[in-house]
Amino acid sequence: MKINRRHLCGITLLVGLGMTACQGGSEEAEQVVNLYSARHYDVDEQLYNEFTEETGIQVNLLEGQPDELIERIVGEGEESPADVFIAVDAGRLWRAQEAGILQPVESEVLDSTVPENLREPSGLWYGLTTRARMLVYNVDNVQPAELSTYENLASPEWEGRVCIRSSSNVYNQSLLGSMVESIGAEATEAWAEGLVDNFARDPEGGDTDQIKAVAAGQCDVAVVNHYYWARLAKSDDAADQEAVAKTALFFPNQGDRGTHVNISGMGLVAGAPNPENAIAFMEFLVSPEAQEVFAESNNEYPVAEGVALDPVVSELGDFKVDATNVVTYGRNNPKVNEIVDRAGWE
Ligand code: FE
Repeated sequence: MKINRRHLCGITLLVGLGMTACQGGSEEAEQVVNLYSARHYDVDEQLYNEFTEETGIQVNLLEGQPDELIERIVGEGEESPADVFIAVDAGRLWRAQEAGILQPVESEVLDSTVPENLREPSGLWYGLTTRARMLVYNVDNVQPAELSTYENLASPEWEGRVCIRSSSNVYNQSLLGSMVESIGAEATEAWAEGLVDNFARDPEGGDTDQIKAVAAGQCDVAVVNHYYWARLAKSDDAADQEAVAKTALFFPNQGDRGTHVNISGMGLVAGAPNPENAIAFMEFLVSPEAQEVFAESNNEYPVAEGVALDPVVSELGDFKVDATNVVTYGRNNPKVNEIVDRAGWE
């Protein structure tokens, strides 16, 4: 876990040395919200500072890997100072829910801002931003008209041409969880088998590596989150620019259920010592100003309507979003693990 020096005072509290160390000589108890976050971009912190300026509530930030943070909150039990938990990927928010570390929030603001499919129905967690899991193709070897759906990647014409990262990756697990929900477990398994048969190589690397493999002609099509491509498109590095020139993104399943999206999201921790501050903070994070910063920091789509997109993301165009509720990604996860095992997808 990484401790942020700019918030050292708050971190002191979090590691249990006691709040008095933080208060200096101040007479009144400081208003705080303790954030355990598995998402980190520099601009996120700017945003937390803005919240403090607006409300006087200090944000104490503890960063870590999502599973580590969940374990830590479980371990701290009733003593946990955690108020808000932030994670990337609905599958991880589901794990937090299953671990019993979240409690439902009742908030008009959150319910009216975050679309129904992007939040846990009882209010245990809410989406902050969305990311589209798209097809990326080699522009010399593939015509966009040859592309259609995720399902189509399992058909014989793609034999030896598909790249995708490991099935243990949570983005793929969530994609398959959504497919189990939409087309059923049997069809998802048949698809996974066909996909594995079409692999150009054994799964390796992250999404950026898949884009580079497509650009290099190692494979003709891959499945990646849109922001990895957007990140390369904004890079000054010549190799990144070349990879972008050789590839393009495609929104699959536009003729039926829509393109699978995942979220980064947040939940109120069960037993949060500062629940009112926590809810104010969560509501702030879906405000237009915060949504713009949040989305821009990782080239994502805001959950709130009417918020400007990053220009590179905006150029990808409008698309139909698969409205399958994000909760199903985690709920179907046990089935997904069986499916990928049987399909031999490493
Ligand atoms: Fe990512």
